[in-house]
Amino acid sequence: MTKKTKRPLPAGNGAEDPFRDRNLLRTILETIPDKLYFKDAESRFVRNSRAHVKSFGVDDPADLVGKTDFDFFSDEHARQAFEDEQRIIRTGEPLIGIEEKETWPDGRVTWASSTKMPLKDEKGEVVGTFGISRDITRQKEIELEAKNLTAALKRSNQELEEFASVASHDLQEPLRMISGYLNLIVRRYQDRLDQDGREFIAFAVDGAQRMQVMIDDLLSYSRVTTLGKTFSLIETEAVLQRALLNLKVAVDEAGARVIHGAMPAVMGDARQIERLFQNLIGNGLKYRRPGDVPEIQISADKKDSDWVFSIRDNGIGIDPKYFDRIFGIFQRLHTREQYSGTGIGLAVCKKTVERHGGRIWVESEEGKGATFCFTIPAGLDPAKRPAP
Ligand code: ADP
Repeated sequence: MTKKTKRPLPAGNGAEDPFRDRNLLRTILETIPDKLYFKDAESRFVRNSRAHVKSFGVDDPADLVGKTDFDFFSDEHARQAFEDEQRIIRTGEPLIGIEEKETWPDGRVTWASSTKMPLKDEKGEVVGTFGISRDITRQKEIELEAKNLTAALKRSNQELEEFASVASHDLQEPLRMISGYLNLIVRRYQDRLDQDGREFIAFAVDGAQRMQVMIDDLLSYSRVTTLGKTFSLIETEAVLQRALLNLKVAVDEAGARVIHGAMPAVMGDARQIERLFQNLIGNGLKYRRPGDVPEIQISADKKDSDWVFSIRDNGIGIDPKYFDRIFGIFQRLHTREQYSGTGIGLAVCKKTVERHGGRIWVESEEGKGATFCFTIPAGLDPAKRPAP
């Protein structure tokens, strides 16, 4: 039920009632920052808001009366607007919230969000059109910049992807040749070489082997996206168990204690999530002080629309200034003599998590263990998952 409120009475001092139609229309036309216009059946301006008049660089509203869009805009835009309005007059159908690209004779382009309606006389006959347009040029520019940026980012990601994949493929062949001939030298000429010669060849073989490992690493990095499987519903409990089975030797050797809480079902690539757990738990086992017994806790907590998985260890920890760096390709904080590895593991983890629409980060203090966390969106509806 609506309560009727009485409109305040006119001042009674002879001043015009400010709520009369005439004053309301005048106020709108004089002050509203949007472009308001009334046009006759030939699309000639009849009345315009002050903002509309100004947008044409005209001072006096009277100077606009009788003119058309053809007097101001480029032919292309004026014709489009004319055709739209003539159709509204013919059909009586309005155009609501359309985006108009306004092109000007000097080459300028502006954008407007417009609504155009049929203008009827008292008998209901369509006698023209009226409309309201809001300038959305800045908004459109921002939209376009964002679109261009996303496209450029996609392109550069794709290029990087191709580079890693092509480089690692193409490096395989010459490397195979180097390794093959080194082995041949060892087999055939070992006896004829002196101590130095044998040592030099051993260094060369070692270098070739390391390069092979790095190429394999690069390939596995690029394969996260190129060979990734489409997502399906996976039980992370089962996936975690498989990862732990793969790590059984390392766990047993270190006498490690690995515990975990309840694990959820998520949409994902089971092989990749298995590898993700394996990498993170494997690091937890590896980066410990000599003689320490690793303790690793794995948990999954629902936070908003994500599952947050965390893998906590009691190892050497990481100085916060390296938190970003360690996720880069081949980035390591230790020499091979201290801890084995090539520095690809966390880069693969990051790429895997991002492919699943999540984030990965680490929380740690040097010497106080590290907790690696990653998120996977909790929605199980495949249609709402990020495109793999
Ligand atoms: P890799 O283990 O082959 O070096 P990663 O990409 O897995 O490669 O790790 C990069 C670096 O991050 C490691 O060299 C190590 O310095 C650091 N790091 C990773 N995991 C841990 C951890 N659980 N505790 C301490 N440091 C870690």
